[in-house]
Formats: sequence, structure tokens, C-alpha cells
Amino acid sequence: MANSLKINVFLIPEEGQHFVFSEGDAWFKGCFKEDEIPDFSLDKVDVSCLITKTFSTVFIKGSFSALIDVCCSRCLENTKLTIGSDFVYTLMPAKTEAGKDIALKPEELEISHYSGDFIDLTPIICEQIILQIPIKVLCSEECKGLCQQCGANLNVSSCKCSSNSLDNRMAVLKNFIVKN
Ligand SMILES: [Zn+2]
Ligand SMILES: [Zn+2]
Repeated sequence: MANSLKINVFLIPEEGQHFVFSEGDAWFKGCFKEDEIPDFSLDKVDVSCLITKTFSTVFIKGSFSALIDVCCSRCLENTKLTIGSDFVYTLMPAKTEAGKDIALKPEELEISHYSGDFIDLTPIICEQIILQIPIKVLCSEECKGLCQQCGANLNVSSCKCSSNSLDNRMAVLKNFIVKN
């Protein structure tokens, strides 16, 4: 499958295995169900990681950097955003040994599971990308946003609304004074 980056657990050498890969938006969008596709596009992600194994426990230690094309929360224009992070995963086989019912220690809550003989890096990388997307993205700290009344992008054009609304406020104020 084109959208999977699968690693055969049994083929991970003792000294570990390096993975370096780059992917783009087609890969990224293909990792989500139709109704869960994120509302930004991934121009490019570069991933580098080292995968090691101790018995059946697999450790993934890596980093990524990505260029995202995302909508500014204020002016709604598309803007480029660079994100990146280090990540560490510990994965154990999903099947638990029969008869053993040990309470999880706090540090074990950080452990993920894999089933079968393969580990797919795809959901791990997608999860990391999603985690690094800020809730509010601004094209610039000085973004003026859109006019509340006419919707004009105030970064590229000005509109007459602000002066008009000021006139309206003064008119209201004038009436108020007259009535009293
Ligand atoms: Zn903006
Ligand atoms: Zn306006």
C-alpha cells in the first residue's frame, strides 16, 4: 500500500535501523478517513528516525520537520507554517500473555502496541504532525484580519466601514444627548 511505511519487526537489526523519508500531501491525505481529513495541506514532511528492538519491544526515536499550508485564523488567507518535533515511541506486541493481569504502572501508559509482525510508521508521523499544528495560526502577528462588516481583507485593502460606523455611533450619541 502506498500510504504505509511498514517495518518488519523481525528484520530490525541489533544495532537498529535508520529510516529517512519524505512525503507530501497525497500521502498525508490518504492516511485519513474521508470525514477526518485535516483542513490544511502538507507541502512536505521530512522524517528521520532510528528504530531499535529489545526482545519484542520496539523503540522509535526520531524527529520530523514539515511545511504546512494553512488558513490564517484572522484573514483566512493561506499561509505557510513550518513545524517540527522530536518524538519517542515504545511499542509492545498487542497480545497479552494469558493469565497475567498486572495493573499498569504509570510509565507503561506511554506504551503503544503493535499487532502482527509489522509496525506502520504512518499513523505515528501523522499523529506527530497533527499534534504540532497550533489551534490558532496567524499569517503574521500584525495581521489586521477581515473587516467585521464588509469582509474586506484589511491587510491588502482598506474599507469605508470604520469611518461610517464611527459616524453612526456619533449620531446615536447625539440623539441620546438631545433626549436628555
Ligand atoms: Zn492573516
Ligand atoms: Zn469594511
